[in-house]
Amino acid sequence: MAEPGVVQAGHGPVEAVRGPRRARHRRRIILSELALSSTFSMTVVLGLLQSEELYSVPVFVAGWILNLAVLALCCTLPWSRIPSRWVIIVPLVDFVAIALTRAAAGDSLTGVGLLAAFPMVWIAASRVRTATAVTIAVVASLLVIWLPFLLRTEVLTLRGLIDPILLPIMLAGLAGFVSALAKDNRRRQDALRASQAALQESIDAGRDRERLLGTVLDTVSVGLLAVDRDGNDILMNARQREGHAAAAPPGTPDPDESELLIFGADRTTPIPPTMRPVRRAIMGEDLQGEQVWVGTGRSQRALSIFSQSMYDDDGAFAGTVVSFNDVTELLLALQAKDDFLSNVSHEFRTPLTSILGYLDVTLELADALPERVEGYLEIARRNALRLEQLVEDLLAINAGTFEVIPVATDVGRILADAASSGHLRAVRAGVHLVNRAPSSLNAVADPARLAQAVDNLLTNAVKYNRRGGSITLDASLGDDGLVIEVEDTGIGIEAEELHQVFDRFFRSPSVRTSAVPGVGLGLLITKSIVSEHGGSISVASEPGRGSCFTIVIPQPTR
Ligand code: ADP
Repeated sequence: MAEPGVVQAGHGPVEAVRGPRRARHRRRIILSELALSSTFSMTVVLGLLQSEELYSVPVFVAGWILNLAVLALCCTLPWSRIPSRWVIIVPLVDFVAIALTRAAAGDSLTGVGLLAAFPMVWIAASRVRTATAVTIAVVASLLVIWLPFLLRTEVLTLRGLIDPILLPIMLAGLAGFVSALAKDNRRRQDALRASQAALQESIDAGRDRERLLGTVLDTVSVGLLAVDRDGNDILMNARQREGHAAAAPPGTPDPDESELLIFGADRTTPIPPTMRPVRRAIMGEDLQGEQVWVGTGRSQRALSIFSQSMYDDDGAFAGTVVSFNDVTELLLALQAKDDFLSNVSHEFRTPLTSILGYLDVTLELADALPERVEGYLEIARRNALRLEQLVEDLLAINAGTFEVIPVATDVGRILADAASSGHLRAVRAGVHLVNRAPSSLNAVADPARLAQAVDNLLTNAVKYNRRGGSITLDASLGDDGLVIEVEDTGIGIEAEELHQVFDRFFRSPSVRTSAVPGVGLGLLITKSIVSEHGGSISVASEPGRGSCFTIVIPQPTR
């Protein structure tokens, strides 16, 4: 596209200038012509004052009038509709006007020829090639100096032709110089325009990304908050704004963090301001599913909070991003499930006790019963006992704790009893059970609970074993305290399931599809018993090769 007010020839498109640049294009043409016309006018007036003879030379004033006419045209022509390459006609006509006036002025006003520098600069600064500009300069200035001879107002002499040759030389040099300068300037402007366009493009892309990010943030159902290193909010999505409003005390539309209604797991104990998740996240702590309740009454919500700290290039803390997941429905559903389990377990307990009582009484009359019926009753009793154990487990798990009273006890004895009652089950399953624990091992533990824990491990070792497999029970007292190991050569546990085996109701997929009975509570109960002793339980396993469960219970220093 042509520069406004300059001539376009030789390169690029030549259509008329459109759009917002139209006014600038027109102004530049008028200003360029006005500069020449005002200098022209002053020169003519000076010439007339200097030499009265010029009054009688009409061509002298004709050149000037031609120039003024060109200026008038420049002011009136609709430049926006004229192809920009036609603008070159203006400086070319100016050359003719200057040539006429100079020819008429003759020797009395030779400086008129210098006016040719104006249209020359105009052409050279336009988009014409340097060679074209120089050619026009030479031809036009020769026209200016030789017009008197052409009009035959002067006698043609060699001297007359050569003497003023300085003007064409100067104008040609000037044309070359201005053209090169203009070209360089244009190149820089083009580069500037290109970099401005690139900048604009990246600003637009940035705005698009910001719009997209804003939409994504407001679409997700998770509350998001970004805070800088000084604790100032730098981003909060729509969901979080709602959450913030829900946590506000009634009548406080814009509370600060410390005023928010934030409670612990019991939904009523307020969390002190310094212990609140957002405060801790601002202090640089990364939260992993911290659970709180916000607000009060029916609108109270449970939130699971995660946070991730941000660091600048130097590794300094730069703020944090906190996410708030509404887990109210999930917690209420879990609560409903627990309540249901607890109620059902309680409801089962009384009839089960009654069934077991009557079965016991009936079995005491075994002599009066046919042998087959006694066998049926024995099976019924066994299953009722299993059901009773399950009910007890469910109630214990729902209560959350196992009462443990550690006393000095002979763990060797407890393990021997557990091994002998597990022995029968092992024999039935075709598994070899070995008890390597010392027959006497004095330690501090709750004998009944410890027996229950070991019994659970031995039961599993039999259930998840194979015919011909083996189980080894061992125990020792070491620096860490009492260590009990139950190792089997059974089916083993997949690596990715190892961390889940102590979860409530977890059963590995392969076990779930097998006929092995169970509900996924035994290991959780065992872990709870060990934890109540202040100890820990761990498992190492290799699928297809077996598992080893290890209980460690710290012992009081002697
Ligand atoms: P249950 O035995 O009633 O399923 P547990 O809590 O005792 O429940 O065990 C949870 C799960 O852990 C089992 O279902 C089984 O998948 C796995 N598991 C426990 N003990 C063993 C073991 N000794 N060998 C292989 N898998 C085991």
